[in-house]
Amino acid sequence: MSAKALDPLDLYDIRSELSEDEVMVKDSVALIDDYRSIPDMREAFEKHEFPQHLVGEVAELGLLGSSIDGYDCAGLNSVSYGLICQELERGDSGLRSFVSVQSSLVMFPIHAYGSEEQKQRWLPAMARGEAIGCFGLTEPHGGSDPGNMKTHAKRDGDDWLLNGSKMWITNATIADAAVVWAMTDEGIKGFIVEKDMPGFETQEIENKFSLRASVTGALFFDNVRVPNENVLPGVSSLKGPLSCLTQARYGITWGVIGAAQACLNEVLNYTQDRVLFGQPVANTQTMQIRMSDMARRITTAQLLSLRLGRLKDNGEMSPTQVSLAKWNNCRAALDIARDARDILGGAGISAEYVPIRHMLNLESVITYEGTETVHQLVVGKELTGVNAFG
Ligand SMILES: Cc1cc2nc3c(=O)[nH]c(=O)nc-3n(C[C@H](O)[C@H](O)[C@H](O)COP(=O)(O)OP(=O)(O)OC[C@H]3O[C@@H](n4cnc5c(N)ncnc54)[C@H](O)[C@@H]3O)c2cc1C
Repeated sequence: MSAKALDPLDLYDIRSELSEDEVMVKDSVALIDDYRSIPDMREAFEKHEFPQHLVGEVAELGLLGSSIDGYDCAGLNSVSYGLICQELERGDSGLRSFVSVQSSLVMFPIHAYGSEEQKQRWLPAMARGEAIGCFGLTEPHGGSDPGNMKTHAKRDGDDWLLNGSKMWITNATIADAAVVWAMTDEGIKGFIVEKDMPGFETQEIENKFSLRASVTGALFFDNVRVPNENVLPGVSSLKGPLSCLTQARYGITWGVIGAAQACLNEVLNYTQDRVLFGQPVANTQTMQIRMSDMARRITTAQLLSLRLGRLKDNGEMSPTQVSLAKWNNCRAALDIARDARDILGGAGISAEYVPIRHMLNLESVITYEGTETVHQLVVGKELTGVNAFG
């Protein structure tokens, strides 16, 4: 038996399961995270602004549209994409959200369902961070039921007229192009709406106490004339947006592990130094049980995501498996962040320590891309064959 000390943030040595290329991706993202983005993200969170200067840096590392082969994208595998999300979210969910939206919700549908002209026009520019995208699916009356969307488009000669609104849209006010899902007589279609199109307005949602370093906003369409060449030709059903969500949710399962690791790391250090009743509080049974529980949940999440990534790379991943991991890993990360906040006592409410920022961010992450309830019902439907949504 080996007496080698285990890494507290990687008890089952997931690192040894990674290929050389995957380790390289993880370590290079970790480096930019530690030295550049983590300090900037904390400040950005406090100022309630998105640090747009980091877009160029993540683009330079090949992190935008990293799973796409060609069009100036890195062509990395799914496990590498997961590791990118994990390392970025170890810093802050805001930057990871930006990368998820750009990669999985905007570049993915253009690549999967777009025309060759659309791909040539948008993918290289988006990979370089020169064009920013957003994804408009959720509407003000209820995001969990996207099939009931009110935003609609009608053919008008060679164009379409788009009307309606979208709510809670990441990157809304900084996007050059919005992939907007709208009901038409021919089914649900994806429209690439460009920022200067007349009748298209955006508005930032202010005063958020979560994901403060990410832009969130609303999109409004008042008879926006969208040329047919801006419609994604490859899909005409809810499958379009749902397939994008599967990609993004997969990345989230990894991302939240990073946030949870950052919280565990913080309390491991803090409880060694905090002396109460004559001893470091880390020496008490209660504290050890609480931190062991964090490690147990992180380890479970890591194993789920790695298995999911390998399934995805083999083309065998099912959306239900993604739902189970999104539910499990977000719940684990949020519980860990809340408990870590408590372990720090009064200091836990200060942004000088990471848990409260992660905790507040994770309140969004557990809600967006399908709430916990939605994912539980997806798993329930798989188990019973009964759709219990309605
Ligand atoms: C910071 C942030 C960024 C976001 N970014 C984007 C984005 O870029 N693009 C985008 O399109 N959307 C985005 N969203 C929207 C997000 O996906 C939705 O908020 C989410 O899907 C939930 O929709 P809702 O807020 O309308 O809640 P609702 O759908 O109204 O849900 C309300 C409550 O009802 C519960 N519920 C739902 N269905 C059932 C049921 N059948 N049985 C019992 N309970 C149920 C839910 O779990 C929830 O607790 C973002 C949201 C946030 C907060």
